[in-house]
Amino acid sequence: MARVDLHLHTTASDGNLSPTELVRLCARNGLEVIAVTDHDSTESLPEALAAVEEFPRLRLIQGIELSTDAPGAEIHLLGYFVDRSDAAFENRLRWMRSGRDERAREMIKKLRGLGLQIEWERVEEISAGGAIGRPHIAQALVERGYVEYPAEAFDRYLGRNGPAYVDRPTLRPPDALELLLSNGAVPVLAHPSYVVQKDSEGGEDALGEIVAGLKEAGLAGMEVYYKDYTPEQVESLATLARDMDLILCGGTDYHASGNPGEPEPGATGPPLETVAALEAVRRRSAPT
Ligand code: AMP
Ligand code: ZN
Ligand code: FE
Ligand code: FE
Repeated sequence: MARVDLHLHTTASDGNLSPTELVRLCARNGLEVIAVTDHDSTESLPEALAAVEEFPRLRLIQGIELSTDAPGAEIHLLGYFVDRSDAAFENRLRWMRSGRDERAREMIKKLRGLGLQIEWERVEEISAGGAIGRPHIAQALVERGYVEYPAEAFDRYLGRNGPAYVDRPTLRPPDALELLLSNGAVPVLAHPSYVVQKDSEGGEDALGEIVAGLKEAGLAGMEVYYKDYTPEQVESLATLARDMDLILCGGTDYHASGNPGEPEPGATGPPLETVAALEAVRRRSAPT
């Protein structure tokens, strides 16, 4: 088990554990440093901060995951040491979350067009006030017996090429990077293997180019240790990260999703040195 897990979700977005439940699970799994990184939301952080107080050996880095969209690529950016008192930042997040609501309504319409009786009210209830995502719709499909697991709903309906998929208004990667930098958060590229999924032609070169562009714009690190990556994937991403002078980051992207075989918090993660390297970037960029 890893000592560090820097990619975790709660009920503030599409995770199924409350911040307190997640923190307790992380402590049970022997983790020493965690980052809570909800989609387009920092709402989980006060409760998570209070919950780590119970565990003197556990440290919390306040984080976020921003979804961005570029032609031919879907890019998620993690931000560490996020400043919640930044009103402009929080306004932008609210805008992103309301885009999520609209888009979920559209997806539900499409599902109903396919003959699947899913109600917006139920999806909203499942989301429990958190940033609405496709996993909440997937859960409603499970409840209705249309699919057995959430992942099956993605395979059949909700995936990028699925019949109920809808894009949502979101930031372009350079704007999301700028948003994180202006907040003082340290930006890190999430799950690089998904980045060039949309058109896989020239996969690795395309990824290298995208990462180089982001580095130029201020990216500090990228995920190398992730969820269920094979040792070969980790090695090839570690090579890319070192070539680009990026900090080797990672985590399980745990959601308590209910999908079979989901790795638990701490199943993978970066070494403790990663945390020190992220802190050093933060100190360098902090206003004096
Ligand atoms: P959204 O933010 O609404 O676009 O949903 C993205 C979230 O859906 C991700 O963070 C994952 O939690 C989940 N997800 C994406 N693709 C899949 C998949 N193929 N199977 C299961 N969950 C997925
Ligand atoms: Zn998610
Ligand atoms: Fe992501
Ligand atoms: Fe995530």
